[in-house]
This record gives sequence, C-alpha cells and structure tokens, in this order.
Amino acid sequence: MKIKEVLETMDYGNAPESAEIAKAWIEKNNARFGLFIDGGFQFPEDREYFDTSNPATEQVLASICQAQSQDVEKAMQSARASQAQWEDIGGPARAKYLYALARLMQKHARLFSVVETLDNGKPIRESRDIDIPLVIRHYYFHAGAAQLKDSEMPDQRAHGVVAQVIPWNFPLLMMAWKIAPALAMGNTVVIKPAEYTSLSALLFAEICMEAGLPKGVVNILTGDGRVGEMIISHKEADKVAFTGSTSIGRRIREATAGQGKELTLELGGKSPYIVFDDADLDSAVEGLVDAIWFNQGEVCCAGSRLFVHEGIADVFHEKLRARMDKLRIGDPLDKSVDLGSIIDSKQLKSITERVKEGLKEGGNLYVGKCQLPDSGYYYPPTLITEVDPSCQLMQEEIFGPVLVGSTFRTPDEAVALANNTQYGLAASIWTENINLALDIAPKIKCGVAWINTTNQFDASAGFGGTRESGFGREGGWEGLYSYTRPANGLSDSIVQIKPKNGESIPADIGIDRTAKQFIGGKQLRPDSGYSYPIFSSKGTQIGLVGQGNRKDIRNAVEAANLAKKWGQSTAHLRAQILYYLGENLSIRATEFSERIVDMTGEDITSARKEVELSIERIFTYAAWADKFDGATHSAPIRGLALAMNEPVGTIGIICSDDFPLLGLVSAIAPALAMGNTCVVIPSEPYPLSATDLYQVFDTSDIPAGVINLVTAKHDEIVEAISGHMDLDALWYFGSSGLSATVEKLSATNLKRTWVNHGKFRNWTDSSQAEGKEFLRQSTEIKNIWVPYGE
Ligand code: NDP
Repeated sequence: MKIKEVLETMDYGNAPESAEIAKAWIEKNNARFGLFIDGGFQFPEDREYFDTSNPATEQVLASICQAQSQDVEKAMQSARASQAQWEDIGGPARAKYLYALARLMQKHARLFSVVETLDNGKPIRESRDIDIPLVIRHYYFHAGAAQLKDSEMPDQRAHGVVAQVIPWNFPLLMMAWKIAPALAMGNTVVIKPAEYTSLSALLFAEICMEAGLPKGVVNILTGDGRVGEMIISHKEADKVAFTGSTSIGRRIREATAGQGKELTLELGGKSPYIVFDDADLDSAVEGLVDAIWFNQGEVCCAGSRLFVHEGIADVFHEKLRARMDKLRIGDPLDKSVDLGSIIDSKQLKSITERVKEGLKEGGNLYVGKCQLPDSGYYYPPTLITEVDPSCQLMQEEIFGPVLVGSTFRTPDEAVALANNTQYGLAASIWTENINLALDIAPKIKCGVAWINTTNQFDASAGFGGTRESGFGREGGWEGLYSYTRPANGLSDSIVQIKPKNGESIPADIGIDRTAKQFIGGKQLRPDSGYSYPIFSSKGTQIGLVGQGNRKDIRNAVEAANLAKKWGQSTAHLRAQILYYLGENLSIRATEFSERIVDMTGEDITSARKEVELSIERIFTYAAWADKFDGATHSAPIRGLALAMNEPVGTIGIICSDDFPLLGLVSAIAPALAMGNTCVVIPSEPYPLSATDLYQVFDTSDIPAGVINLVTAKHDEIVEAISGHMDLDALWYFGSSGLSATVEKLSATNLKRTWVNHGKFRNWTDSSQAEGKEFLRQSTEIKNIWVPYGE
C-alpha cells in the first residue's frame, strides 16, 4: 500500500504481539495448574480440573484445579499460622517484600501482559500500557505504605486473615488492589480469582515464591463461585473484600452478617458521562472511547450513560458515530485494535439479550461499522440514544461496549438524571467551565468523579462507590484503613443487659406525661398510639415514651432526607451550631445529671461526669467540623486528584444502653459535624436523656429534620430501620444478635453499617469513643480528578 493510500484510509495494518512467551510459560507448567497454598503449588488428589480458554480464539489454554473444602481449610490455616509473624516483622520489613514483588513483576511485565490478554481477551495495548503498569505501581505504592505504617498509623493494626474474591475484567489489577494493601498493613490473604481468568494470578504465585515471600502470607485458590462462598464464610476470615456484581455482593453481605467480619464491597455501576455545551467536543468524544470502549465496556466504572446538553446533541452524536466507525475490533494481541474479545460466550449472550430486550422500550440504535472477526466472542461498539431514564437500558449494568444516552437542558437536570440510578460509582463531567464542573462533581452520588477525563486510576487515590455500588475504598491512605482496625479494640464483655421495662400501655390514659417522638423539628405522638413506661433503678415509673414503629421510622427518614442541605452548609456554621448545642447542654447540666441518676441509679458524681464528658465531646466535634480535611493525592498526572470528605447522607443510629446520654452524644456529634442528618433510636431502657434533649436542640439552631429521634424497643424497630431503602448508613451499638440483623437486612440497599457485635465500648474512654474512627464512619471520600494544562 502506498503512503498516500495509508494516509487516506488510515489503515495502519496489523501489529501482532507474539504469544510465544506466554505459551512457553504454560507449557513449562504442563498446561495444568494446582492451588497455591502455604507457599507452594499443591495438586491434591481427586480434584476436578476445568479449562481456561482464550476467548478470542476459543482455544483451551490450560486446565485449572477446582479447590474443595479441604483446600480452603488448609489455605485458611496457613494464612492464620503466618499472620502474627507477618504483622510482627514490622512495616519496613514488609515493605521490602512488596518492593521485591513490584521489581519482579516489572521484570516479567511482558509475560504478564501477554498472559492477561490471552486469558481475558483484552487488547494487548491495554494490558501492556494500563493494567500491568498500574499493578506494578500498586505494589510500589504499598511498599511505601508498609514502610510508613508504624509511624503514620500507630493506632491501627491488621485485621488478621483476609478473604478476597475478584472478578475477571481486570484480573491482575483487581488482585493487586486487594493483595498489596492487605499485605502492607500486616494481614495475610486467601484469594480466589475468577474462574475465567486465573492464569495471571497463578503466574503471580510464582513471583511470590521468587520474591521469597514467607509461606502462608498469600494463598491463591482457584475454582468457581463455591470456592468464593467457602472462603468468605470461613471462621478464620477476619475481613472480606469482594469485587464483582451487585447481586453477589448482596449475597455476601447477607452471608457474612453477624460473623464479626469487616467487609468492603466494590460492585457494579452505571456511571454518567455528562457533556455540557461548552465542552471540547472532540476531547469528549475521545474520552468516550476510554469510558465505554476501554476493555470492551467490561468495566464497573464504565461511562455507560451519556447525557448531552440538548443544544449540541446532534453535533456530538454525529462526531461520536463517526469515531465509532473508525474503532478497530479484533485479535486482542494486535497492538492496533481498540476493542478485543468479550470474556465468554455467556457474557456475549447476556449483552446481546440485554440490548435486544432493552430496545423493546425504545431508543435509537447505532452500531459502529467495524468489521468483526469470524470467530471468538466479539460485540461491536454500540450507541443507543433517546433512551428514557427509567428504561432497563438506562438502569441495568450491561457490562459490554454499549453506550446509552439522552439529553438534558440545565445543570440541575443533568445532576438529576445522573443520580437516577441505584448505583453510585463514578462520573465524568465535560465542560470548559471549571466552576460548573466543581459545582456538579459534589452533587453526583459517586465515589469518583473525573473532570474532562475519564477512567483515571492510581494507587495513591481511593476508588470505590456508594449506594448499590458498595462501600469501602481501594487505594490511597483511605484504602489502607479498610485493611486495619483500631488497635485499642473493644472488650469482649457482653453489653450490659438493663432492667426490663413493663408492658406497653395506651398513651392517652391519665395525665399525658409521655415523651413524644422528635421528627422534622416537631414533637409528634407515636404512630402506634402506644407508649411504654420507663422505670427508675428503684422500680418506680418515672415516665412514658412513645413506642415507635415502621411509620415513625419512615417519617423520620423522610424528614432527615429533606434536611440534607445541612451537608452543604459550611463546616464553620456546623461548628458554631455544635458549640451552641454544647453550651445549651451545659446550662442544664444539673438537670441532665439528675435524670441519669434517676434512670440508672448511678451515683451523682458519675452522672455529672457523664454529662461533662458529653459536653466535651460535642465541643470536640465542633472543633473537628472544619478540620477533618480532605487531601490532594500525588497521582502521576498533570492535574489534581482531590479527595473530598463528604457526608455519608442520612445515618440511622441505634444507641447504646450504656451511658444513655454520652453514648448518644458520642454518636450524633461526629455525624452532625460532618454534615449528615440522623435518625436516632435512643437507649431502650434509658431514653429520657434523649427526649430531654429536644428542648436543647430547639434552642441551638439545629435545622428541623437534621436530628430525628424515635423512641422504640430495639428488637421491634430493628427490621424497619435496617431494611429502609432511603437510609445511607446504620450504626448499631448493642447485642451481637441485633448486630447480625442490622448487617443482614442492610443488604436491601447495601447501606453502610457499623456495628459492635455485642462488644463493649467504654464511652468514657476517648480512645474508644471519640476521634477519627467516628469521623471516617461519618464521611464518604470522593476523589475528584481535575487535569490541568492545555
Ligand atoms: P460475579 O459477581 O458473579 O463474580 C465475581 C467473583 O465472585 C468471581 O470470582 C466469582 O466466581 C465469585 N463468586 C460467584 N458467586 C459467589 C458467591 N456466592 N460467593 C462468593 N464469590 C462468588 O460476576 P460474574 O463474573 O459472574 O459476572 C456477572 C455479571 O456481573 C457480569 O455480567 C457483570 O454485569 C457483572 N460484573 C461486574 C463487575 C464489577 O466490577 N462491577 C465485575 C464482574 C462482573 P466465578 O468466577 O467462578 O463466577
């Protein structure tokens, strides 16, 4: 072909990468892989083996062992046996191992890239230039994190053994995101790669041996979902980390409920890609290539919902269609293809069916005019415009190269459309107006926002979602906290069981001394019309409180959600209001102390101390309100990665029965300081300290709806509040039984939970009851990426 023709057609030919290096490695292993347990490969007898294939050619690459329960047991015991020593060698010693892993992977980078592409079908350009460099960066970053752990995080320690399950779309990268921080913080791991893509994990096992990693620190068990299920529910797993579909994430939330395991979930998404009329349209089109056609769209944070400003929609779609026609799809080993193969025939079928079904509800279909190879699992780049926001195509994760879109007229409408989803993972915003971009980014419910860019990742910046995209962050300092727990743990002693209350009685009998519910700034009668008596420590009735039910919870959540503007008020204002609250409580300190004595039988000195500490705690969080700063991460881009602390939203708080005033104040003060609204269920036997607070709230300028209190019997109300779909988080400080219920029912909308599994938190001890752990529970970190330069 002549140069002139090349320039005209832009057909730059094929540039295949050789598969030989990977094939030689597979052959060296006789195309048969065992399980990596206790520092070596094991080939237990009588195990089944399954094939792993190259999806681009459908050729079998190797056979892989299906782990059984005995193998899970061995791996878990090995991880347990090595954990204490791994933690005790200290951060700098662990750093050396992580550094060695990074160096060795760098040395074998080409082999890793080819193995990944062969097993997964992703373009070699992506595995070579994106996945593997990010993997290596992750190990280097976390070598540094290990080095600094002892000096920078002295109050945190490892969870212990971590069970990790990862998907097939970024096999080695997801493994790095899981293993590197876990090891850096002193945990040992048992990890299950996805059935479709185990090869790069097994190659990594060899690297662990080459690096001389102590045995048992990393264990890799291959197999299907059953293996995942066994490791996450194993009694030795102290923490579970999962990346994959929302449906399996939900099952894992339910399966681990009440087991005392920390959980992070990185789940599905349907991320918005918003293009304003002043955007650089060519860049925005190119950005879409990275947003939805990167990795064939098999990306949890793919920009799969396109919202274009109405005035430029026609021009933009035309440019986009022209670009789609030029995308190259084919042999993933060809360095010049843009899209490789879909992972498997099942996934291809699922994409095809979702599109077919979705189109029945309407939409304008455009398929890129690229030529598809004759064999393998390929799906063309696809655009469907004029899709109604409530349609399946807009709501369901397709997990393929399919972009669906509609238009908007105003920034507010763009935000409303972006948030009209169950998910909350990522967002891309395209505009040349930085004021507009930085106004919109915090309004979108997501864990990561990219401005005039997309799909940026780095080990220094946390990644993760909100809502049904899961909870927890991977990467950055924020991610390290997911792999540690406070060193000053709660004690095992069971929560003190308080005296039983008497039977419920209708509220309106006799003189009405019933403390009402506090909802939306008003004192309201309980919906049930029933109250229950509160007794003094001597057994005499000292008051009645309303018996809250599902409707009260519904009304309280509704009021709290309406008051969410509190989160947008300045931190300074929130601090002022908290100081005012503290002052007003101190004016009434004597009355509150006497109330505590009355209810609990404490001596007056301890009661005074409790009130004093409560006031101090409010002042502490007033001080924190404008000091719990975010960060600017040092990601290797020309730009900023701003980690902003945002409020979680509306938090439900079921208070402890110990220290009825201090327990409540210690929980609500950080939540309010960080801009959350609250639905609070006070201590069941001692709720009068809480109901006495209504007047203090009223006189402290706290806006209506920011705090709502529903008095109720905890075991009767727990279902309604845990299952509520509009609550963003739920904290529970009580028995292990109800902790389990809270975790299990929270799976409905995958709200964040924080429970104490029946352990005792000493609310007078500031190392357990105050500080950053509370602030972290009260915030969601959003990373906003802002590139700069022309
Ligand atoms: P899954 O969520 O089913 O799989 C993720 C991982 O979990 C795999 O290792 C899987 O094993 C394992 N697993 C499956 N069942 C269980 C279980 N009960 N307990 C513990 N672990 C389990 O994703 P799929 O691979 O099946 O893909 C299904 C759909 O999920 C895709 O079509 C896509 O829409 C979405 N998805 C989303 C991802 C994201 O990051 N958002 C990533 C991957 C998929 P095995 O490999 O054997 O199935």
